[in-house]
Amino acid sequence: MGAQGLTCRECHAEYPAEALYVCERCFGPLEVTYEVDAGLDVAERRRHIQAGPQNLWRYSDFLPLDAPPGPSSRTLSRTGLPAGCTPLIKADRLAERLGLREVWVKNDAANPTHSFKDRVVAVAAARARELGYDVLACASTGNLANAVAAQGAALGMETYVFIPADLEEQKILATGVYGTNLVKVRGSYDDVNRLCTEISGERDWAFVNVNVRPYYAEGSKTLAYEIAEQLGWRVPDRLVVPIASGSLYTKLAKGFQEWLDLGLAEGAPPVMNGAQALGCSPVACAWEAGHDVCQPVRPDTIAKSLAIGNPADGPYALDLARSSNGSIDAVTDDEIREGIRLLAETTGVFTETAGGVSTATLAKLAERGDIDPEERVVLLITGEGLKTIDAVRDTFDSFEIEPRLDAFVDEVEDVVAGARR
Ligand SMILES: *Cc1c(COP(=O)(O)O)cnc(C)c1O
Ligand SMILES: [Zn+2]
Repeated sequence: MGAQGLTCRECHAEYPAEALYVCERCFGPLEVTYEVDAGLDVAERRRHIQAGPQNLWRYSDFLPLDAPPGPSSRTLSRTGLPAGCTPLIKADRLAERLGLREVWVKNDAANPTHSFKDRVVAVAAARARELGYDVLACASTGNLANAVAAQGAALGMETYVFIPADLEEQKILATGVYGTNLVKVRGSYDDVNRLCTEISGERDWAFVNVNVRPYYAEGSKTLAYEIAEQLGWRVPDRLVVPIASGSLYTKLAKGFQEWLDLGLAEGAPPVMNGAQALGCSPVACAWEAGHDVCQPVRPDTIAKSLAIGNPADGPYALDLARSSNGSIDAVTDDEIREGIRLLAETTGVFTETAGGVSTATLAKLAERGDIDPEERVVLLITGEGLKTIDAVRDTFDSFEIEPRLDAFVDEVEDVVAGARR
């Protein structure tokens, strides 16, 4: 495959593969389309992927780049921070707790800046380089800020990162450390995004999620490829995916479909379950009401990384939930905290609030009887627990004792034994 150009998702008008993101005719969003090279057979394609590097560039043939990022020159790294090839963990204890047979956890916290955003930024930055940009920028709910600042540092690009001023301190510190121009905006993410759209019209910068968004979005497909490859070139039956703008959710389905079409992966298009926090659930609300479009909301939730009140891919997420026999659910902040604990206690994976959203949604689907016990389910964990540490404060007890054996016996062992009785 090779990137052919951009196509409007609404009116199908075609554009060259440049820094364009909105259709001039109908204002619809643009999406990358590919030329499929029918020459290669399946075995040859699989061998080619397996011979690639242990990161997302092994899937370069399915990404919108003229050439896969090559080795670094002395002055300019072209590969940046390698993202992807994160663990897919069989979560038997979680499955048992939920009464399911087969659950896998895709732990995308195991990326360089500890969220799946390293994938989308890697692809956007590589394409921005090809298009000749020197400055990388973004409007972020937190994780994107980390990834843009780090990727810019690795590539030697100047970066501007715009965030809502009230973001978690951990995410602010883990962004500023890379030496970015960090701009805190007094407003919601949607205010930040509006400002960045305005700036992108005035400055010749690559805003990863504004003017180069079509390339950014393609990076999410690598999660689908990886899951299929890790399952032995098979598509799982169902995925549970957190939704902010709806880009990850919809592009995952695109990735699986591409591989099914090429015969590279076996199976059927998976059931896609979207997950939102109730305090910012425009897509889940539209789903519940049976609407085709989302009503913008003002976010109020601990899942700040998902707090987009006006999601760009909302209508496409609704289409996908419908066409895949899935659903889009919302969970409360307390359920998010319980989801974080459930995942940690049954798998050893500590996720941020967004992973609490997807885990709590999986639990809800299982409880509701929506999941056939025979299904193979993949739960998307998109970010790291240490970044939203406040979410687990006061959710467990601990012991504090004097440094004496009798204190340990009386105040710890006896209490633990008592609790067991
Ligand atoms: C950005 C993000 C998502 C999903 O974002 P989309 O805009 O829907 O693609 C999910 N989880 C985490 C942790 C994120 O940072
Ligand atoms: Zn159009």
